[in-house]
Amino acid sequence: MNATPARAQLGQHKRAVVKIGTTSLTYPNGTLNLQRIEKLCWVLADLYNQGKEIILVTSGAIGVGANSLGMEQRPRDIIGRQAASAVGQAMLMQIYQRFLQTYNRNAAQILLTRDCVDNKQRRENAQNTVKQLLAMGVVPIVNANDTIATDELTEFSDNDNLSAHVAAFSESGLLVILSDIEGLYNKDPKTHPKAILFHEVNEITPAMEAAAGGSGSSLGTGGMTTKLDAAKIALQHNIDTVIASGEDPTILLRIFSGENEGTLFTCMT
Ligand code: GLU
Repeated sequence: MNATPARAQLGQHKRAVVKIGTTSLTYPNGTLNLQRIEKLCWVLADLYNQGKEIILVTSGAIGVGANSLGMEQRPRDIIGRQAASAVGQAMLMQIYQRFLQTYNRNAAQILLTRDCVDNKQRRENAQNTVKQLLAMGVVPIVNANDTIATDELTEFSDNDNLSAHVAAFSESGLLVILSDIEGLYNKDPKTHPKAILFHEVNEITPAMEAAAGGSGSSLGTGGMTTKLDAAKIALQHNIDTVIASGEDPTILLRIFSGENEGTLFTCMT
């Protein structure tokens, strides 16, 4: 199948944000999926070698920290989440750094809070740092600063939301959200085997939002509602968004080649 004009255009974007969620980075028992993270780093390094500039927004700090501290599940209390994320964030960065260095790339840690987006001065500081890192060929790796962001004024509701704001202030042309679901379906594919995957969306309709958040569960465990919200923010900034499966990180190469992977949200018709 030939790429649609909107798909073909994805390869033109030089700068992109890739967001990857905890379930794509870990095994069900909470330990790191090293094969996948290594593959992700390999793909990121390859994209840099092609001349792309990719900012990674990663979750996983709380999950990885909780597992490492011997907790049975993610802590529910704020102080427990703060402690787990402080442990897990260091572990995550160590792994990213190690794998990226195998491919001669450095990783840089950027931890953000909501006011880094809302406050002009802070946003510009973050923007300048990210741009400088990209100019130096370093891979910026972003997460929410879970240690200090504990109220709704400072906290990003989720990393999907964070990734859309990072795409906006970094002036990226593309946001890719990698998750444990192939994209946006018209119904929950887990309960509706015949659910249809949307390949290209120009407008997020109330029906899509209702399907994403309906019947007590989102479309897939990744939480489609927050992903649609992120796509909406991106669309407002004229940024293309692809929601796709993070099972095989080489999907990023196919997305940049214009292949019909996941769901593309685009202003281009
Ligand atoms: N910042 C959280 C973590 O690293 C993730 C938040 C999210 O997944 O939306 O664990």
